[in-house]
Parts: sequence; structure tokens; C-alpha cells
Amino acid sequence: MKVLVVNCGSSSLKYQLFDMDRQACMARGNVERVGTAEAFIVHRPDGADKVRRDVEAADHEQAMKYVFECLVDPRIGVISDLAEISAIGHRVVHGGEKFAGSVLINGAVMQALEDCQDLAPLHNPPNIMGIEACRRLMPDLPMVGVFDTAFHQTMPKEAYLYGLGYDMYTKYGVRRYGFHGTSHRYVSARAAEILGRPVEELCTVTCHLGNGSSLAAVKHGESIDTSMGFTPLEGLVMGTRSGDIDPAIVSFLCEKLGRSASEVVLGYLNKSSGVLGLSGGLSNDFRDLEQAAGRGHELAKLALDVFAYRVVKYIGAYAAAMGQLDVIVFTAGVGENSAEMRARICSRLSGFGISIDPEKNNVRGSEQIISTPTSRATVMVVPTNEEAMIARDTAEIVSRLGARS
Ligand code: ADP
Repeated sequence: MKVLVVNCGSSSLKYQLFDMDRQACMARGNVERVGTAEAFIVHRPDGADKVRRDVEAADHEQAMKYVFECLVDPRIGVISDLAEISAIGHRVVHGGEKFAGSVLINGAVMQALEDCQDLAPLHNPPNIMGIEACRRLMPDLPMVGVFDTAFHQTMPKEAYLYGLGYDMYTKYGVRRYGFHGTSHRYVSARAAEILGRPVEELCTVTCHLGNGSSLAAVKHGESIDTSMGFTPLEGLVMGTRSGDIDPAIVSFLCEKLGRSASEVVLGYLNKSSGVLGLSGGLSNDFRDLEQAAGRGHELAKLALDVFAYRVVKYIGAYAAAMGQLDVIVFTAGVGENSAEMRARICSRLSGFGISIDPEKNNVRGSEQIISTPTSRATVMVVPTNEEAMIARDTAEIVSRLGARS
């Protein structure tokens, strides 16, 4: 079975075609600057060089046409007929409380997605556009929605409610939802697999550390808490996001900066804060910050320390929430690649008997246990693979469909 995975942003469309029988990615690519005159597609068949073409993609539907064209192109394509594709899996950011797992997309699901729009006004509209484009182009193809929020729907009320009036939750859905769920689900399950232990036995903290970062407390295979909340702004200090702050700072900054609340939240707290802001505007890229800190740049070092401290604080909180801590998993851009950041974080956990081996920690982007044999928790690097997870869910749902018909 071949499954196409699609991930639409406001001006981008990323895709990967999987051969599920071989569990292999056949081709991947992205269309950038969708909706502008400078749109282009970059397509890379597995094991071959990437190809870049300028395209006319005024919207996601036109962009999708180029994706299909590339996939069947006699020179750079990887299939001879679009009919070889059995299903499309779509990444959807916000499923609200309606989706605790991946679903086959139908009219009712589309309506439920529309209903979630005001919870994720930045992310869901492009996801919906992508689904609609594919449905128009391939009306008979089964499509599956895989939600960033779904894995965290197992959080208990005590973890997902804010200390606000209960009616804010019942009337407006103000609660913690969490994001990066597909990644937390994938790496927690993969870590258990690598360790040869059933997930049902493990209490794991998964650290998805990238430009956007979140932690999850995964107890016996279920997310019981996660650091992002109503929006991805809550929790860790991130590349450009502030993470947790005293909410009173918003109105204080509105006055001081002469800006509206939405300008402060969507602009300042989301785009100009985090390690970018802390480093005095130097960079939100952890490679730049690590290099600058190495040269003695004080604010770069401070930004990295604040970032690591917040991660450590959440690991401690989640160990307490789960009552046990067996595994810590590092994943995503920083978690997979930065031995320095992993060391910065783990050195602060030595008081709890957690220790990593510097030689084993010297790894980039591959699966590895980095803790010492005597460490009280196993510390691991597990590269995330959200696309493979989306493909797997899609294939599973579509196979069940076939079995029923
Ligand atoms: P997102 O998906 O949220 O955009 P990623 O998971 O791709 O983010 O992570 C991007 C981050 O990973 C960047 O800040 C980048 O600096 C960081 N990163 C990538 N490689 C390294 C490395 N070798 N050392 C430190 N940081 C790295």
C-alpha cells in the first residue's frame, strides 16, 4: 500500500509518499511560497538528488497538482500512476476535544474541523484548505486526519483545566490541549520498543525540543500532561515564544509598548521572545547561540541556561505527576542534534541519580541510549518521525475500511 502524507501551512505544503509494505519513504518534498508569484516546488525521490522548479501556485489546490505531477513524472517521479496511491494522511494541528485519535475524513469530520477553527486560527485553516484541495483533486481517495492534539486527550481534568471559572471551559473550550502529540506518541512508543519493554510498564518524559518545544509526561503509554496548553505559547521557553509567563505581563506590556493585547500575544510573545529575545535578538537558532556562548557571548549563554532550566523544571514536575520516572527521551531539532543542550539539561538532574555518558551523548540524529548503566532513569535520543506515524495511522484506518467492505 502507498500512502501520501500532506502537511499544509499557510504558505507551504510538505509531502512524503510512503510504501507501507517496505516501511520506506519513496519521495518527499515541499511547495513553498504558495499564494505568491514566487512559488516553487522542491521534490526529492529517495536516494536521488532534489529537483527545484518554479511553479504557479496561487493556492493549495494548484500546489497539490504539482505534487501529483512530480510523483508520476517519468524522470523524477516514483510511481507510474496516481491510482497507486491508496490514501492520503493529513496532519491537522487542532482537533479540540472532538478527536482523541486519527479519523477517516468525511463530511461530519470536515464540519467538526470548521468548528475548531477559532481554537487554532493560525494553523487549522491551511490544514483544511489542504484537505479540501485533495478532496477536489482525488474525490474517491480515502483521507485520514491525524491531529497534533489527539494524543493528549488522555490528560485528566486536573491537568488540563486552568484555574479559571469552570464556565470558561464549558462555554468557550478554554483548557489545555497540548500539541506535538504525534511526535510524543511516536518517540515514547519507539523508546519502549528499543528498550524491549511494554509501554504499559514505563513512565516516560518525552522532550520535543525544536524551534517550538514541548514536554509530555507519558505514563503507561498515555499522555497525562504536556507543557503546551490552550495554544503552543505555553510551557517551555522556545525559539521565539516566551512559554509560561505571569498573564498580568500582557496588560503591563500593552501599556508600556502602546500595543494591543493581540499584538503583544501574537507578535511579541510568539515571535520576538524566547531564546531570540533573551539573547538580545541574536538568534533563535540554537546552533548560533551555542557558538556565540562558546565565544563568551553572555546573553547567548543566559538564553541557553534559561531554556535548559525550564526543561529541567518540567522534567521534575512530570516525575512528580507520574510518581515514577523510567525514561527521558530527547527528540526534534535541538533534542536530536545538540549534545551540548542534552548535557546542559542532564547535568542539572544529577541530584536525582540521572547521569549520561559523554561519549554516548556524542550522537546526532540517530537512536541511542546516552545514560550510564547506573543512571536512575534511562536517557535516550530518538529522532522523531511524525510523517511515518501519520502514514501508519492512515494505512491502519484504510485497511480496516477495506476489511469491512
Ligand atoms: P521546528 O519543527 O519547531 O521548526 P525543528 O525540530 O526542526 O523545529 O528544530 C529546529 C531547531 O533545531 C533550530 O533552532 C536549530 O538550531 C536546532 N538544531 C538543528 N541542528 C542543531 C545542532 N546540531 N545543534 C543545535 N541545535 C540544532
